[in-house]
Amino acid sequence: MCGFSEMAATRIVRELLGAGIIEEFIDPDSTEAKKNNVGRPKTGLRIVKNGLFAVGITVSAYHSEVSICDADGRLCASSRPENVPFQSVSEAAQTYAQALFELIESSGVDVDRIVGVGVAMSASTDPERGEIVESEYFGWANDAGQFCREIKKIIDLPVELENISNALAIAEMRFGTARNVANFTLIHAATFVGAGVVSENRLVRGNSGISGLLGHFRAEERPLTCICGRHDCLNLSATGFGLLSRMGKLDHRAFDTSKLSFYAKTLLDALEDAEASDLVAEAGSKLAPALDSVAKLLGPKMIILSGYLGSNECYFDAVRSTLADQFDFDPQRSFQLVKGTVSSVEAAPLLALHSFCYSDRLDYDRFASAAEKSEEAAHG
Ligand SMILES: [Zn+2]
Repeated sequence: MCGFSEMAATRIVRELLGAGIIEEFIDPDSTEAKKNNVGRPKTGLRIVKNGLFAVGITVSAYHSEVSICDADGRLCASSRPENVPFQSVSEAAQTYAQALFELIESSGVDVDRIVGVGVAMSASTDPERGEIVESEYFGWANDAGQFCREIKKIIDLPVELENISNALAIAEMRFGTARNVANFTLIHAATFVGAGVVSENRLVRGNSGISGLLGHFRAEERPLTCICGRHDCLNLSATGFGLLSRMGKLDHRAFDTSKLSFYAKTLLDALEDAEASDLVAEAGSKLAPALDSVAKLLGPKMIILSGYLGSNECYFDAVRSTLADQFDFDPQRSFQLVKGTVSSVEAAPLLALHSFCYSDRLDYDRFASAAEKSEEAAHG
């Protein structure tokens, strides 16, 4: 499949074994099968779970979180920094980096075995340049790479910065419900709504580098103002912001970036409140037309609903029933509609694992020399 020779494969395996990234094991099934046959039992190769780690930062007004996962993508440790100063890009970055630094220290994970830092945030980003292009949600302009630089000052590791919908899509593709699905769309619905599109196993970024602006799809007019200045964006009806307005929880009409924590907390409370379920369902029904358009344009095999609102039972059911009632949705002939299996907290370290471990960006030399160093130390 990879197109290299057996000799090259043997050399690569030897190097990965030497660096402690993979290990050999005897498959018990093959030993059993071989009893009746000639030949040696097969030696299997597997990833060393604790051979490499990845760390992540979830920049969110809901639950800011820093986390560590192992090479299998399982979360090993996490913590929640409080009172992140979202009004300043550099101060926010410093707060997250400091919390992550302390988490790495207290977890006992060897920093030499960490592949890199994944950052998932509600912003359009340029991962190649490591820049925040713009965040409507946090009210940040282009940061010229400042967020990543601040992190590297405290934790000297490669950083991958990605929009939250894209990070979730990557995580679902590599480790979650979209494994082996080449074409799918992930919709992240919380305070606002956005989408990550995967086509032929690749994230679609578009010509401008910014795709998936589902929140600015035209929808019904509301007595509210979107961050873009319009009154008819999907962000005003199918989202947490629209829901809070319908519940009478807002004393203002225009989206206000200084009230992100208020929106987040009030939405989480609303999702716990049985009396709000009709309005939650109403918001879900407003998302259905956009999903129908996405499905007709892209023909995905799967559409994943993610985020605190998107994965809510009541919201999800309303999306599905509206699609069935008004758009002849038939999962047998069209797409599968599923809930996301990866949380935004997990998406950040999984992004780092995807970018720096299961990728041609794996810094093999660094881990080989780390393995050598610990070998020397063990032999006195
Ligand atoms: Zn808008």
